[in-house]
Amino acid sequence: MLLGPPGAGKGTQARMLETQLGAPQVASGDLLRNAVREKSALGLEAKGFMDKGALVPDDLVLKLVDARLRERDAQTGFILDGFPRTVSQAETLAKMLDARGEKLDRAIALGVPDEEIIKRISGRRTCRDCGAMYHLIYDPPRNLNLCNSCNGELYQREDDAEDTVRMRLQVYAASTRPLLEYYERLGLLSLVDGIGRTEEVGNRILNALGRGTKPAAAKGTA
Ligand code: AMP
Repeated sequence: MLLGPPGAGKGTQARMLETQLGAPQVASGDLLRNAVREKSALGLEAKGFMDKGALVPDDLVLKLVDARLRERDAQTGFILDGFPRTVSQAETLAKMLDARGEKLDRAIALGVPDEEIIKRISGRRTCRDCGAMYHLIYDPPRNLNLCNSCNGELYQREDDAEDTVRMRLQVYAASTRPLLEYYERLGLLSLVDGIGRTEEVGNRILNALGRGTKPAAAKGTA
């Protein structure tokens, strides 16, 4: 599981881990955005919360995550990204995993300071079709508004506007940061410094999972 504030790099690292570990990324934010795009009843209900930068009510999120985890490719493992976001979601997840005879291997918390997050998110562009992410300065697409891999249109997420990002950071501090202590108490937490090139951060995560080949992971704060 990847934990951390918005813009910490959870999505980017989850996609790297997909390849390295052969397990699918299960990103609650992506599942919600798909539901919004499909204009399902659940998506329409979730949209108002997402646009404000608030958390979507647990029952909606849990319905999507539960359905995703029942899909065939998630039967031998998965990488959770953005879920759980609250202690109550973490408790529900523990029950869901217990019922499947599974357990969480590790909670990786990516630490990145708030000001760096604002810089990262304001330049972030996302592909409407495949969800790939770019940054106008750090990782620009070859063509300004088009995805390198699928040629889909790149857009700025409504909730990536600066005011909304500040709100999301407050929500993170109030509702999600307590999960660090929750997983620490369970002996499952690894703090990983989220500053650096994608591959550097990726190596730190692999080290924390005991899969790395490089020297010990740097410690950070989340
Ligand atoms: P993300 O793509 O993870 O940054 O999520 C985008 C938005 O989706 C968040 O700001 C929330 O509004 C909503 N969201 C994603 N995951 C969750 C979750 N586990 N619980 C509640 N809301 C969520």
